[in-house]
Amino acid sequence: MKNAEETLKTLSLMHAPTGQEDEVADFMEKKFKSCGFSVTRDTLGNVIARKGKGRKVLIASHMDEISMAVKSITEKGFLKFVKVGGIYDPMLIGARVIVHAKERRMGVVASKAPHQMENEEMKKIQEAKDLYIDIGLASKKEVEKLGIRPGTHITFTGEFGHLNEHWVAGKAFDNRVGCTVNCGIAEAYADKQPPVELCLVGSVREESGLFGAGVATFAVEPDLAIAIDVTHAFGAPGESEEDIPVGLGKGPALAVLEGGGYGLITSNHMVEWLETIAKKANVPLQMEISERGASDASRMQYIRQGMLTASVGVPLRYMHSQVEVIDVRDIVQTVKFLQGVIEAFPQRK
Ligand SMILES: [Zn+2]
Repeated sequence: MKNAEETLKTLSLMHAPTGQEDEVADFMEKKFKSCGFSVTRDTLGNVIARKGKGRKVLIASHMDEISMAVKSITEKGFLKFVKVGGIYDPMLIGARVIVHAKERRMGVVASKAPHQMENEEMKKIQEAKDLYIDIGLASKKEVEKLGIRPGTHITFTGEFGHLNEHWVAGKAFDNRVGCTVNCGIAEAYADKQPPVELCLVGSVREESGLFGAGVATFAVEPDLAIAIDVTHAFGAPGESEEDIPVGLGKGPALAVLEGGGYGLITSNHMVEWLETIAKKANVPLQMEISERGASDASRMQYIRQGMLTASVGVPLRYMHSQVEVIDVRDIVQTVKFLQGVIEAFPQRK
């Protein structure tokens, strides 16, 4: 994949709160169509692209990002909100957000200044339920005039930038990184037919419960279903390789087990087959065990009578923050690995 970083940057700066993924969905649809795929959208908003004939391989990347929604509007025009997806409360104060009314409007998650706090108050974590968003208006009436009401979606904004030559930081890398990989796979088959019926899916509503990919998998009924998401990488202070045996810049990670075994469990047979493919493609493959997190694969494996499923993760630091960090080379390696899987699948018994 040539322009991985540029595609990631474009996708990262887009806004797709869980349940309103249209901006990213439109981008994915356009990209898939430009590579010769036929594209449909289902009731929930999943983008389903198909190309080729034969056994079906489905590759899904969720398009939504962690977000918030308006809970109520105060008389003075501030927004109270609920979290949608896993957000660590201390990440909220100081955040710039976009409120998705008829028109998008910037807001800030604020707190009173330290100068106005007692010493004891300064030591406490402020919870999301006590915080508010300031959008620069003085009354509830003015806010409502903009079409902002309970349920209006809110997303974070953030810049995209380099930490070093290969590492980039930004918002919503979970899971625009996976979407970038899916774009890379589409590009790889832009000028040729895949040896399978290749179904690339931009899925919705992952952050609040792995919903969209499950629905798409039911509809497509693939012979092999793969979820592409990000996965935790060690390296930050307090995180050791013993706890998280996956590192940045070391290639894609294959989840052997998700959610401490309450989600996806990959069979030994599948792991060995994928290891052989990685070796052949000259891509290093890391093994991952997830104690608590789960990807769409945890839902996809249990659709219909059970699906042959794999979960591939691109290593990432600081998940669910506005400063998620990845090594761009891992995206390129993941595309290469998945191409190997697609090419090898017709021979798999
Ligand atoms: Zn996530």
